[in-house]
Order: sequence, then structure tokens, then C-alpha cells
Amino acid sequence: MSQDALVKRQLGHRARLALSPAQVLKADGQAHAARTMWNLLHAWWQMMPKEKRTLANADAAIRQAREDIDFLAVLPAQAAQAVLKTYFQAWKNCWDGRADAPNLKSRLRTVMSVDIPQGRDLNIVRVHRRWGMANIPKMGRVRFRWTKDLPVGKRADAENRITGARLIKDALGWHIAFRIQALEAKPAPHQGPEAGIDVGITVPLALSDGKTYEHGEWLTGKEKAKLLSLEQRAAQRKQHRKPGKHASRRLRRTYDQIAGLRAKAKRRALDWQHRTTTAIARTYGTVVVEALTITNMVRSARGTIEEPGKNVAQKSGLNRSISGEAWGRTVTMLAYKTAKHGGTLHKVPAPGTSRRCSACGHTTPGSRESQAVFVCKNPDCGWSGNADHNAARNVLHLYRTGLALIPAAGRAVVRRAKRVKPATAR
Ligand SMILES: [Zn+2]
Repeated sequence: MSQDALVKRQLGHRARLALSPAQVLKADGQAHAARTMWNLLHAWWQMMPKEKRTLANADAAIRQAREDIDFLAVLPAQAAQAVLKTYFQAWKNCWDGRADAPNLKSRLRTVMSVDIPQGRDLNIVRVHRRWGMANIPKMGRVRFRWTKDLPVGKRADAENRITGARLIKDALGWHIAFRIQALEAKPAPHQGPEAGIDVGITVPLALSDGKTYEHGEWLTGKEKAKLLSLEQRAAQRKQHRKPGKHASRRLRRTYDQIAGLRAKAKRRALDWQHRTTTAIARTYGTVVVEALTITNMVRSARGTIEEPGKNVAQKSGLNRSISGEAWGRTVTMLAYKTAKHGGTLHKVPAPGTSRRCSACGHTTPGSRESQAVFVCKNPDCGWSGNADHNAARNVLHLYRTGLALIPAAGRAVVRRAKRVKPATAR
């Protein structure tokens, strides 16, 4: 195979860690030290005159801090360097207008994480069908859940290898996220059919060919009852909390249990999303989605204090369902998965797709009879069907008439100068 038929890919893979209580304490300590390091770095940055804020000076300051402050020594030197790198990157993101200025990280609101920038230090071995082992600096050998074939041992080479990892803690415990670099054969163009997708209200995903992807509740009846009783307990305990005082140990424990159940629901939703998007990317060669700006939709409902939004209650319910389905993440997954299978993903402007009739093309008032049913009020047409299916057909129609926006192929999107209008016709 010639070299140009290969494509480089950066992948991520997250696996659950099985840590002993002592290892959990060590990981917690490292994460707290990493956060403290960030805060010290931020204080140093604000204190320093502009011309002295250099990488070399910051590096020297970090080394000094690791010598002077005992508990910072639990953080491996490589992880401290990673904090420095992330901090400078945060400023770059700010100056380029991608993010707000970096700030202090609070103990309660920050995701606990430790970076392991060197992949070769990990020394990963598969020890069982379901378990792998890795070396974590200053923590030793740890077990992790083996759910994907990683390029380690004989399978690793200069092009296919693990380049680094990150330890992350969520409500269900510590995880390890591997950074994988892979060189794969370029897929042949996907010859499958075209499909428009609508993010539905009655159906999570409706396709233009009539297929729908649905899911049940993320939590079982028992789990939901448990969540409700935990929330009631939290509310009760919160009443006893005096203003200005920390939450009690029991209240924090209840909060942790609530977060655990929510994390479980989120993990199930994520799993469904992965399986659904993989199925779509395998089946269809061209996938068309609406270009929704979810953050705007969520913000506009709430309004401002001077000008409160209308129908806040209804919209917040809708928003909750949109955020719950995490449409943005679905699109991200579709972008890289279609590319992996040789297909393409396109975005079309959203306005009107739910009100236009996909059979005759007319937009008549009152056509959308309910959330679920669409009946065309054009006397010559009278088409009726599922409203989400209708919208999905409109999405595909917009693509076929050449109204697709800029290519939505993940990172491959070409950045345009702001004054240039994006091309709508292709
Ligand atoms: Zn019609």
C-alpha cells in the first residue's frame, strides 16, 4: 500500500481504573497538588511584570515551589510540567478569543485530574481478557478495564502507539484516558445512501428514510425512586445547614450519591449515543444534520433580568431534553465516525425545517398539529406523518438543493477570514 493511502488519527480511549483505597488516596493527593500548582502559577503570573512572564521563569518558579512546599512533591515532575503547559495554552486560547482568561481553580468545582504526558512510562500490559495494567508515576502498578485493543507491546510501533494519558475522577471513581496515535488505511468512499437527521422531541433521532433511533429511560424505576428519595433527603439536610457554614459530612455524602446516580445515567446515554452514531456512519454515505446552536437556544429562554424570557417553563423543559440528548456531542461523534467509514457529514441551516411540508414544500400556519403529528394544510397536498420524520426529510432536501453550510468534518474545517461570506452553493 502506498503512503498516501494512510491517514494519521488521534484517538482517545477512556477506561475505568480499579484502585486500592491507598492508591485512591495517592491519586487524590496528586490531583489536589496539580490544582494547587495551577493556582500558585496563576498567582505568580498576576504578580509578575509582563516582560518576566516567560516559560523559563515559570518553570524555575515551579521547581522552587516543589522544593519549598512539601505536599507539592507528591506530584510527579512530568505532571507539574503538564500543568505549566496547560496554563500557558489557556492564555493562548484566551488571546485567540477561544476562551475566557484562566482563573483560580476551586476545590469543589474542579474536575480532579492528573496528566501523564509520557506514553512510554506507562508500560501497559494486557494481563487478562478484561484487564490491563499500567504504571502510574509515584503510584505504581494499577489495573484498568480492558475494553479496546490498545497499541501496546508488539502491536505498537513509531506510528501506532500511546502518546500519553490522563487520570480523571468523576462521580463513579478514577478513570484513565489514553491518547492514542494511529496510522490507518484511508477508507474507500462510502457508497451508502443519503440520510437527513432531525433531533426530535418525540423521537430522539429521526431519519429521512423513516428509520428512528430510540432509547428507554436511562435509569430503572428502582434507581429513579432512589434518586428521588436522595434528593428529598438532601433538601431536608440542606434546611439544617446554617448560612455561611460548610455542608455537613452527611449532606456531602448524599450529594455524592446523587452525583453517582446521575453519572450512571450519563454513561448509559453516552453508550447509546456511541452505538447509534456508529450504526448511522456504517449505513449511510452522506449524513445531513441541522446546524443548531444549542447554547443560544438554552440561553434565550431564560432571558435577562430586565427582559425575562417568555414561556420559560415550557422552553426549559425542552432545553432539558435537548441538553439531555446532547445533540452537539452526537454531531461531533458523527463527524469523526462518518470520516472513518469514508462518508461525509453536512450541516444545513435549521430555520423552518419543522414547519415546512416535505411533500409539497409549502410552509402553512398550523401544519404542525402537535409535537408528534404534522398535517399539511395546503389543500392540494394534505400530506400527514410524524413531525420529526417530516423535519428529517426537509433537512435532506436542503442539502440536495445545495444549501449545505461549510463542511462539518471535524477538525478538517478550513478557517475563513471573517469578512469572507461562507459559500452556500456547492
Ligand atoms: Zn404539503
